[in-house]
Amino acid sequence: MALTPMMRQYFEVKENYKDCILFFRLGDFYEMFFEDAETAAKELELVLTGRDCGLENRAPMCGIPFHAANNYIGRLISKGYKVAICEQVEDPALAKGIVKRDVIKVITPGTYIDSSFLEESKNNYIMSISINSSLNICSVALSDISTGEFLTTEFKFSWNTIFDEIAKFAPNEIIISKSTSEDDLKNLRNYSKALLTTRDEIYFEEDFSNTLKEYFKDYSGELSEIQESAAGSLMKYINETQKISLSNINKITVYNIFDYMTIDNNTRRNLELTESLYGKGKQGSLLHVMDKTETSMGSRNLRKWIEQPLLNKKHIEDRLDAVSELTNNLLLKEELKTNLKDIYDIERILGKVSNKNVNAKDLISLKVSLSKIPDIKRSIKDSSSKLLKYYYNNIDELSDLHELLDKAILDDPGLTIKDGNIIKDGYNESVDELRVAKKSGKQWISDLENRERDFTGIRSLKVGYNKVFGYYIEISKANYSSIPEGRYIRKQTLSNAERYITEELKTMEDKILGAEEKLISLEYELFNEIRDLVDKEIDRLQNTARQIAELDSIACFATLALENNYVKPTINTEGFIDIKEGRHPVVEKVIPNGEFISNNTLVNKDDKQLLLITGPNMAGKSTYMRQVALITLMAQMGSFVPAESANISIVDKIFTRIGASDDLAGGKSTFMVEMWEVSNILNNATKDSLVLLDEVGRGTSTYDGLSIAWSVIEYICKSENLRCKTLFATHYHELTKLENELRGVKNYSVAVKELDNTIVFLRKIIEGGADQSYGIEVAKLAGLPKKVIDRAKDILKHLENENVADTKKIAIENKEVLEEVATDIKEDVEEVYINNHKTNKKKHNHAQDSLQMDFSLIAKENLVNDIAKLDILSMNPMEAMNKLYTIVSEAKKLKD
Ligand code: ATP
Repeated sequence: MALTPMMRQYFEVKENYKDCILFFRLGDFYEMFFEDAETAAKELELVLTGRDCGLENRAPMCGIPFHAANNYIGRLISKGYKVAICEQVEDPALAKGIVKRDVIKVITPGTYIDSSFLEESKNNYIMSISINSSLNICSVALSDISTGEFLTTEFKFSWNTIFDEIAKFAPNEIIISKSTSEDDLKNLRNYSKALLTTRDEIYFEEDFSNTLKEYFKDYSGELSEIQESAAGSLMKYINETQKISLSNINKITVYNIFDYMTIDNNTRRNLELTESLYGKGKQGSLLHVMDKTETSMGSRNLRKWIEQPLLNKKHIEDRLDAVSELTNNLLLKEELKTNLKDIYDIERILGKVSNKNVNAKDLISLKVSLSKIPDIKRSIKDSSSKLLKYYYNNIDELSDLHELLDKAILDDPGLTIKDGNIIKDGYNESVDELRVAKKSGKQWISDLENRERDFTGIRSLKVGYNKVFGYYIEISKANYSSIPEGRYIRKQTLSNAERYITEELKTMEDKILGAEEKLISLEYELFNEIRDLVDKEIDRLQNTARQIAELDSIACFATLALENNYVKPTINTEGFIDIKEGRHPVVEKVIPNGEFISNNTLVNKDDKQLLLITGPNMAGKSTYMRQVALITLMAQMGSFVPAESANISIVDKIFTRIGASDDLAGGKSTFMVEMWEVSNILNNATKDSLVLLDEVGRGTSTYDGLSIAWSVIEYICKSENLRCKTLFATHYHELTKLENELRGVKNYSVAVKELDNTIVFLRKIIEGGADQSYGIEVAKLAGLPKKVIDRAKDILKHLENENVADTKKIAIENKEVLEEVATDIKEDVEEVYINNHKTNKKKHNHAQDSLQMDFSLIAKENLVNDIAKLDILSMNPMEAMNKLYTIVSEAKKLKD
């Protein structure tokens, strides 16, 4: 059996688009066949039918109406599929045999530009990765074709760095060589949600120099070979899919990975920079709190700034100074915000211009945006900060384009560009003439109705129009007898009326319809001309759009600072972070107003290099650590920060190891993930990094975990080329001993107050280690059944007693064996455990005694220390009486 000619054509086309779902245009439908039909039917909930294809079995088939295609395409793309659109590419009237069909566009997750599916505040990046393992170098190129951005960079090859770049841009599609090992591809798939598009190695090996010169008119061969490979392969792919050259992609921006803070995926997730850990949406993230921008472009830029905090002190200070100028000049800030409000997404409108799918309404949005630019420029004309001055000098007023659009396009034009109603009167003479002709014709017709009514005396006579018969005169059945003989020609009979025409009416109809048709095609032609004129100025427009986006982000920082009482941080390069009364920018927003307890932080290169934070569950350790990281990150973005004052040393990387998660798909258990993350941090952190470690070691047995945590702290504090600023939260109170043994370790704890058999969290970070975890009390607060809580308390008491006895017994009975076998670390651990147990008990008793007092650990301890220091034997009776008096007064004060 042989395939039908249509099916043969289908297979010929499909052969080149095996990795796509092929939308094959038949009449008013896009049809899908075979496997594509089965996939689409499942994903889009379509009915799967069949079609004779010349083979024994019918071809599985499903279809969608062509006018509804966008919606279906969007749904397939968001599920990670590619769609190839196959259209008739010749006029059926001229076709010999079957009409020629071909793919006119391939839509993929990384090249999708439909604004109804794209998130306004998020770029849609596609990335190409090129690796040269023999030279040990790598390059990535990225583009967002909806905005025209095109970037590339080069670095020493390492998958970690590649992953960091992926984390930074979150591309939706990655192009990579098929020669990449299966393991690496698997890791990539686990790491990123992006669709992986693989191509033969040869795809990346072309000499792209000339091709790039063709695409980018300013390019003169300055990229390295590996960068040309990444950029060239990306442009090649974009062209293969779009099938037209995109004028908005016209400039290669080369960036250096060392210009921005390194933040891996884990850290971005843990710090909830752009999406919350639980909801996975923007709500609850830093971006959500910070986004006070007025435009989509500003919002995308803000996201970029959050994803890429700066490392250059001057650049950070430039942003801070600009924010400062706006916070000090409320009028200017308000004026800017008001004008920015009316600015549409110029970048994405330009994307449509270059893709030739812009409509007249988009151009009106562009015009409205352009009309605000002179006001924006005027308001920053006398600015003193460097950045605002820069914006003033670089924003192009584009008055020529505004004038063109204002003269040419109607303020409320039609939605489609093929139905006329686009061009303003006075822009083009022929349009004006045709409009007059059309209008006078219509007037003639409405006069005709009155004339014929008078002539025939039929009051219900009316003149109408429909697409099939054109203009007609309609007379109801009851009035047939009044029609003068031979006056009208009958055209159509309805159940209770007749429709007629006259020669004169038809001549006028030709004139009207002719004028209308001509008008529509002339307006379409003129619109395309105007679009091309806009396209010619795309560089200027894009540049101004970029300045506006940045200016919007600066104004957003100012609003944020004023609304939330943020302060301008001081930036240093001396290695210390000193925050007074810092707050967590997101948590302070979600708890009732004014209830967030601020805290100080001093972390440096010397005596406070590693802050060891102990304290009960739920006390606020994680919040505190994250707040330090977020304040640092916000400062390096150039934003004011939630604190009373902040002096921030620029950090090159932030790492976090927080929370428990597994990676079952990647073959890693919870503990394995934890260790993998710690290892990544220890291998990649530098002396300028900020590291947050929360509960390292809790995923395994107590002694294993404690030993690991202990040794990690030693490694961080002792390795001369590491010694990074570290916040280390732990429940292993034994570790507090390290403060006396290791340079740089400083103990802190989160204060709590015991009250009526329960605990109150004070959320205050105080010097010194904590003595208890209060895990059972927190479990009680969480509502565990009373029986479970009581039993847990019994078991805890029992374990504590047994443990001390066991330890002693083992120490006595197996002293020799223990000495041989036990490692240095284990010995330390046991010593610490015993010592701590004793001190715990002591401190606990003091705590019980001072329950009625207002909670003040520091004052209480000072008093106890003073008493302990007294040397009674060296005092005379009077001195002793005086001292006793002071002690009693102090104690009374504490009691009150
Ligand atoms: P665990 O050891 O159980 O992980 P934790 O000590 O890390 O607990 P967090 O998760 O930081 O505790 O904080 C618990 C809750 O306490 C937060 O969700 C927040 O609602 C509240 N909280 C934390 N810090 C503060 C603060 N400074 N002011 C007010 N509320 C806070």
